[in-house]
Amino acid sequence: MHLKTILNRVQNFKSFVYGPVRWVEDASEPTIEAQLRPRANGRAICSGCGRRRPGYDTLPVRRFEFIPMWGIKVFFVYAPRRVSCRRCGIRVERMPWAAGKHQLTETYAWFLAGWAKRLSWKEVAGAFRTTWDHVFSSVERAVAWGRAHQDLSGIEAIGVDEIAWQRGHHYLTLVYQIDADCRRLLWIGQERKAKTLLRFFRWLGKDRSSELRYICSDMWKPYLKVIAKKAGHAIHILDRFHIMANLSKAIDQVRAEEARQLKREGYEPVLTNSRWLLLKRPENLTAKQEPRLAELLRYNLKTVRSYLLKEEFQLFWSYKSPYWAGQFLDRWCTRTMRSQIEPMKKMARQLRRHRPLLLNWFRAKGQFSSGIVEGFNNKAKLTTRKSYGFRTYHAAETALYHALGALPAPKTAHEFF
Ligand SMILES: [Zn+2]
Repeated sequence: MHLKTILNRVQNFKSFVYGPVRWVEDASEPTIEAQLRPRANGRAICSGCGRRRPGYDTLPVRRFEFIPMWGIKVFFVYAPRRVSCRRCGIRVERMPWAAGKHQLTETYAWFLAGWAKRLSWKEVAGAFRTTWDHVFSSVERAVAWGRAHQDLSGIEAIGVDEIAWQRGHHYLTLVYQIDADCRRLLWIGQERKAKTLLRFFRWLGKDRSSELRYICSDMWKPYLKVIAKKAGHAIHILDRFHIMANLSKAIDQVRAEEARQLKREGYEPVLTNSRWLLLKRPENLTAKQEPRLAELLRYNLKTVRSYLLKEEFQLFWSYKSPYWAGQFLDRWCTRTMRSQIEPMKKMARQLRRHRPLLLNWFRAKGQFSSGIVEGFNNKAKLTTRKSYGFRTYHAAETALYHALGALPAPKTAHEFF
């Protein structure tokens, strides 16, 4: 079987035919080149307007990289024609295998982008002996196409979340769609300011914003403000994942402070290495950790009391009726305010202030488990943390949309991946 026959099977172009296929003798890596030429008498299509136009001249040959075969690099070799278009002037013809000035064929770019969902970009580059930049630009093209072709109708529930990136003090705001039948990353913005979320609502548009019915978020003030302003009609829910994460942060603060204090006063370091004992759910502790937690709980430490308050707060989520949940919340806040533990008191004050939004959790009961936003949050962190070599916001944004956006791809993209 000729290679040409195979190429005609896997990648056939209506107005172009394959010429000779040859092994490139002097290449640094095993390489095959397949000549392409226009079908006889076929007029070129203007890349500007998409119409057949009379030819003008022919440019020097260009090489377009196709999917490698058996570890052998494959290139299409073609001399693009220019057309004289009465609308667009002198233009390069449209070539169905290529886009713009890209050196990779469309098919190869979709192929690399497909693998980049399963492996890190570096691994993809290594596996197919290409460069990180080629993988990145392939993903970039896939994301641009997917974002331009995605269906944004019927979005009723969204979750707003933030993640830290680039060591600490930089944040990204992420908005997910969390409807039961469609869960995906919708939008990313730099920072976590009111301005950031306003940009999301501008992107979503007035009509689609008015169709929102549920919005989950944490207690971050700029978000609360913007949500009230832009989607006041929707039920705004403070979700469980974010509340429990904040409680954990408060405990962490109490523990760090108290550990320092105990050390200063010369006590045995009971709190050393206790961080995970206190942050894990009891049922997730290992056999070794369990007795250590039991030992720790014998001390009447602020840390321990905070821990018990947090464990008790778990009960809040098991209520069915907003009324009784509200009663529980009030009692918990009163007791926490008497605890004389400042980070916990701060938490109680915050919860009190947002009582109605907290109770919305029960009004939307059954609709949104905390697992959805938490799951997305974990995946987003994993994506940015994996050493993809992100130096820029644009690269991180591209990776997140690619991994979590559930973006569509053209039908042809699925043939090779
Ligand atoms: Zn034209």
